Amino acid sequence: MENKTLVIGELNVDMIMSGMSDLPGLGREILAGDVHIVMGSSSAICSAGLARLGEADFLGKVGTDYYGDFVVEQLRLLDVGTEHMIHDDTARTGVTVSLTYPDDRMLITYLGCAPLLRLGDIDVSIFGDYTHLHVGSYFLQLGLQAGLPELFRQAHRAGLTISLDTGYDPYERWGGESLLSLLTLVDVFLPNEEEACAVAGVGDVEAALRELAAYARLVVVKCGSSGAMTLCDGQIVHSPAFDVDAKDTTGAGDSFNAGFLYAYVLRGWPLERSLRFANACGALSTTGFGGTAAQPTLEEALAFLDAQSQGERR
Ligand code: ADP
Repeated sequence: MENKTLVIGELNVDMIMSGMSDLPGLGREILAGDVHIVMGSSSAICSAGLARLGEADFLGKVGTDYYGDFVVEQLRLLDVGTEHMIHDDTARTGVTVSLTYPDDRMLITYLGCAPLLRLGDIDVSIFGDYTHLHVGSYFLQLGLQAGLPELFRQAHRAGLTISLDTGYDPYERWGGESLLSLLTLVDVFLPNEEEACAVAGVGDVEAALRELAAYARLVVVKCGSSGAMTLCDGQIVHSPAFDVDAKDTTGAGDSFNAGFLYAYVLRGWPLERSLRFANACGALSTTGFGGTAAQPTLEEALAFLDAQSQGERR
């Protein structure tokens, strides 16, 4: 069987408004200069990155509504397998409204179906078709969290490796003991700096890596334009980011995840080569607007790395 990943997570629409000259306020109306309605959500962007590099299927819940059909169709157009998608006619597909200003953005999210996915919705007999399971946006999976230890045990029993990305915790509770205990079932944990420190309950990334190493088999921390860090045989390994003309960092972490999982888990490349490859996937994704527009194919990522190596030798 080909190496193939199943991504389980949330799927929603992003409405990105830009070109406003002012902040909104109660009782006022302001005008936007532009709007884009696109597929959003961290888990789905990671599955799209994996599909672009190789193959991936997505399992999540959407409403039986226009936006649900729209986002599933977008996944399909990105070559992500959607046969395990669940349509729930009791709920609506989630929406994030992003008010994008030149220096920052305001986000308002209606979670929709994301918290409604439960262990009982997932037919674990499908695990036989995969070699790896990735779960994204742990903190949004309110219905699935309690069932994840059982889901991960079933996945391991079926021979899959497991990765987890928590994303940001909008409730800022950061998981406590139940997340730490879940991490003991995780092969690759992929937080960013802020998430790693918050989950570990410490103030800096190195301390977080050392703390979390007691739980997950491998922890890789994404550090934005500084690249990524991990702990290998007790030593901190830092892999620097690439210098690119970053236009939009939406989905950079998810594209990094896709690159790392493809390289390290699916292809079995050495750790440092995998980190470099993942940094390339993260960097390239920032060169286009939105999460999926500039995700590289394998050939594109390798060509970028070749060009970087040539530049470094000069
Ligand atoms: P998240 O989106 O999860 O917060 P980061 O912002 O840390 O993740 O970005 C993930 C990865 O994307 C980084 O580790 C890095 O490889 C790449 N990346 C992000 N921002 C930049 C940037 N400005 N320039 C180059 N690479 C970047």
